[in-house]
Amino acid sequence: MPIPPRPLTFICPRCAWQKTTVPLSDALEVGRDLYVQCPKCKHEPLEGRLATQAEILKAKLVSFF
Ligand SMILES: [Zn+2]
Repeated sequence: MPIPPRPLTFICPRCAWQKTTVPLSDALEVGRDLYVQCPKCKHEPLEGRLATQAEILKAKLVSFF
């Protein structure tokens, strides 16, 4: 049984850009579920960590609207 991917928060250490992704399946897509490069300043690599409950909630609200 596949393990569902966990929500992640990506952070750019250079410009403080931040994005939380909540993958819906294990078919991860770059630019939607994961980021390797900052879309603002093109810095890479980004820092990634597991999202907090508050960040997950916020990400879900954003995708709802
Ligand atoms: Zn950046």
